This record gives sequence, structure tokens and C-alpha cells, in this order.
Amino acid sequence: MDGLSFSLDIGRLQDEPDDSQVVERDMVIIGAGPAGLTAGIYAGRAQMNPLILVGQALGGQAATTMDVENYPGFPEGVGGMALAEQMNTHATRFGAEIAFEEVTSVDFESYPYRVQTYGPTYLAKTIVICTGASPRKLGVPGEADFIGRGVSFCATCDGFFYRDKTVVVVGGGDSALEEGLYLARLAREVIIVHRRDQLRGSPLLQERAFANERIRFEWNAVVDEVLGDGAVSGVRLRDTKTDETRDIAADGVFVYIGLIPNTSLFEKKLALDEQGYISTDQRQRTSVPGVYAAGDVQDPWFRQVVIAAGAGAAAAIEAERFLSEQEYKAASNS
Ligand code: NAP
Repeated sequence: MDGLSFSLDIGRLQDEPDDSQVVERDMVIIGAGPAGLTAGIYAGRAQMNPLILVGQALGGQAATTMDVENYPGFPEGVGGMALAEQMNTHATRFGAEIAFEEVTSVDFESYPYRVQTYGPTYLAKTIVICTGASPRKLGVPGEADFIGRGVSFCATCDGFFYRDKTVVVVGGGDSALEEGLYLARLAREVIIVHRRDQLRGSPLLQERAFANERIRFEWNAVVDEVLGDGAVSGVRLRDTKTDETRDIAADGVFVYIGLIPNTSLFEKKLALDEQGYISTDQRQRTSVPGVYAAGDVQDPWFRQVVIAAGAGAAAAIEAERFLSEQEYKAASNS
């Protein structure tokens, strides 16, 4: 898709749904992170003419990662956005079509299934859901007020603004450590605030963070409030052992306290687990035949680019088998 049609499609997000456009597809893939794009590569090669609905942005969470160091074939690492662009090129080369359409609802009651966007309605014979997961928010006073003015969920996007400044990173997992290390290349000081005295992140990242002179830790602490006046000036920390509070100065706050799956479209339409992830079997099948899910939207355990890509491939293979079976049955009955 070229730049012109991109902007036209984005413009249409403001409009009312246009039911006059109903388009049939063998496969609609919802989401264009590593899972969705890989499903597109496989479905494209299987001649299914897949349509990938991008929604907000190409590449998903992976595209906001500065360096992906563990994707096979890239021993020196690869930029998350660069990897997403390569996957996109790969998928479109094999016939996948990309549309910047946001899905507003799905209907699995009749077949082919309906996928409603602000533009066309798609009638899909198979669907692969790859809507990923979004950053969990702290939910404390000040956080929402200062988003874009000091509170961020993406170091790669916003780190540049904190050159030689002090930033707080909240969380103790791989994301907090990885992004804290990235920020330490720019900021004067990175303060990692963690609610326990032991990190959850991998030993390799822990080792790097402990060795980094620009990183220090606030242990057994949570952020009770983001402080500021117009822009962030600091955070109020609460000691999780004593309940005492104190304020520390900072220019920015980066929140990395886990993810929540993007499944609101599928509530009461697909089986979800107690955390809201789409339940799938080992073959990426959901509770509805012909509907598959892959990547962070169904994976609370690994959340790795390589695993999302593998699941996307598996979902596309399964979808192709499902469609062949449907066509065989239809031909046998005619
Ligand atoms: P995570 O592993 O779930 O870690 C979330 C961190 O935030 C934990 O340390 C948790 O504390 C803390 N936390 C949760 N809720 C909190 C709250 N309300 N207030 C304060 N702290 C809170 O999430 P993640 O770091 O985003 O990683 C998600 C997944 O992606 C993981 O499986 C991770 O391995 C993977 N990942 C991998 C890489 C890599 O391989 N390079 C990079 C990034 C992410 P507790 O520890 O006390 O629970």
C-alpha cells in the first residue's frame, strides 16, 4: 500500500461504517505484528490471498523494540521496526494484502464470518487473530495526565527526549531491564523502581543492568503518584515493607509492568482464559472452527518474536487445511 492510500484509509477511521462495501476473503488476519505478518507469508504462499488488517501500526510491540537480539539468523541483533518491515515485504511478496483498517466488531454466528471495520465489511472463510497485547498501566494519580509529557510506555519512541536527564523505569521484568539499558545510553541516570528486592528479568539482562553505572535501583518500592506541573518532575514512591512515602526527582517515567491482551473485540465470542487471553489448542485453534489466534494475544508465557512468528505460521497452515476440507466437503455434496 502506498503513502497516499494509507492516509486515505486513516482518514476513513473517523467516518461511519460503510455497509455497502462487503468483501469476501479466504483469510482475514487481524493484526500485523510478527504473528500476523508470518501468517500472511504462509497464507500467501498457500494461494489464500490473505488480507492483513493492520489497525494501529505495523509491527506490533516488536516494532517498538530497539534491538531484537534473539531472533534466529541475526547474530548481531536487528531493529524491531526493521524486522517488521522485512516481514511485511516478505508477506506482500507472496500476495498478502495490507490494509490500514481498524476492526470494530466481529460476528462468528454465521459463516463466512463477518469482520466489520470503519470501511468495508469482510466476509472471511478463515480468520487469524494476532491483535497482540498492550502495556499495563500503573493506574496511579498523574499517570494519565502526563502521558506524552513525561510518562511513556516506549523507550525506543521517546527515549531521545531524555538525553542527559533522569528517568524512572517501573518494573522488574525483561522489558524494564531491556528498556532501562537502552535508556541508560541516553539518560544521565536511570532509576529502576521494583516492588520486590529480586528481579524477574533474565540473568543476562540483570547482569548488564547491575554492571551499568548509570542505572540504580529502588527496591521494594512502588510508584504511588506521578508528580509534576505541566510536565513530570518526579514520582512519589511508597516502600512496600514500611508503607513510608518519599518523593524523588525525575524528568520522565517509563512504565514496564507487563501486558494485557487485546481481546475486547472477542469477549463472549471466543473462549478466553481468566486473564483474558484467547484460549487456543496446540494447533492455534480457538473455540470457533476456522478462527485461529497467534502471538501475544494467546500467549501469556513466552512473548517472544520467534514464538509469535511460529504460532502465526502454524495458524495459517491450520487455516489452509480447514479451508481445503470445507471445499472438499462442498464439492462432495454437490
Ligand atoms: P513481566 O515479565 O510480566 O514483568 C512485569 C514486572 O512488573 C514484574 O517485575 C512485576 O513485578 C512488575 N509489576 C507488575 N505489576 C506491577 C504493579 N502494579 N506495580 C509495580 N510493578 C508491577 O512483563 P515484561 O517485562 O513486559 O515481559 C513480558 C514477557 O515478555 C515476559 O515473558 C518476558 O520474558 C518477555 N520479554 C522478553 C524479552 C527478551 O527476551 N529480550 C524482552 C522483553 C520482554 P513482580 O516481579 O513482583 O511480579
